[in-house]
Amino acid sequence: MLIDSHCHLDRIDLTPFAGDMDRLLAAAAEAGVEHMLCVSIDMENFPRVRALAERYPQVSCSVGVHPSADAAADADEETLVRLAGEPRVVAIGETGLDYHYNQGDLEWQRERFRRHIRAARAAGKPLIIHTRDARADTLAILEEEGARETGGVLHCYTEDWDMARRGLDLGLYVSFSGIVTFRNAEALREVARRVPEDRLLVETDAPYLAPVPHRGKGNHPAWVRHVAECLAGVRGVPLEALAAQTTANYHALFG
Ligand SMILES: [Zn+2]
Ligand SMILES: [Zn+2]
Repeated sequence: MLIDSHCHLDRIDLTPFAGDMDRLLAAAAEAGVEHMLCVSIDMENFPRVRALAERYPQVSCSVGVHPSADAAADADEETLVRLAGEPRVVAIGETGLDYHYNQGDLEWQRERFRRHIRAARAAGKPLIIHTRDARADTLAILEEEGARETGGVLHCYTEDWDMARRGLDLGLYVSFSGIVTFRNAEALREVARRVPEDRLLVETDAPYLAPVPHRGKGNHPAWVRHVAECLAGVRGVPLEALAAQTTANYHALFG
């Protein structure tokens, strides 16, 4: 059985499922996906994410404000801590730094990231970390704010082995998405081969980043199976073993 450790169910176009979330979840179950973590991106979408987690036992959710979200949808530390204490909320995020999407003076982004780490420490919940073109600042802020204490995951990992190693040293997990299946992702597959088995997670980041052989289509949690198959191949282990290990890792991190 597999777990999709990072998806955005509320953003998926349900047209291929006759507009019915139940059908999407049935397709996931049929592919062996027993659980999904539906990730919050801001305070505007959090109520929808939470509603899905309250409605479906196989869905958990997080609370957080994406590094690129509008200031109007941001949350203060107290709000994050309070919402993180709700029964279906298992993590703080996604948070982090994105110097690709945003440019210029990004002190506001770093302040938002620091606030999320403080909230995670106060709430005793792990972090879901998004990082793009910001490796040095991401690692420095995680270190400075004591993220080692909360634990967390570097989601949708696309960086090199050196950053993975430093993240692992901070106690973090590393999660791979459909990007690892792309034809030109040989260097990333080499990183995936080296991550210790007890720190590995799989995700779709659906509706984005559909894996091969569905690249370019609208992604959904059933397809996390293709990510797992790719990793199993790269690491030379049976799919069943890879699935059992990443599922155990999910429970170790998110409870
Ligand atoms: Zn992300
Ligand atoms: Zn995401």
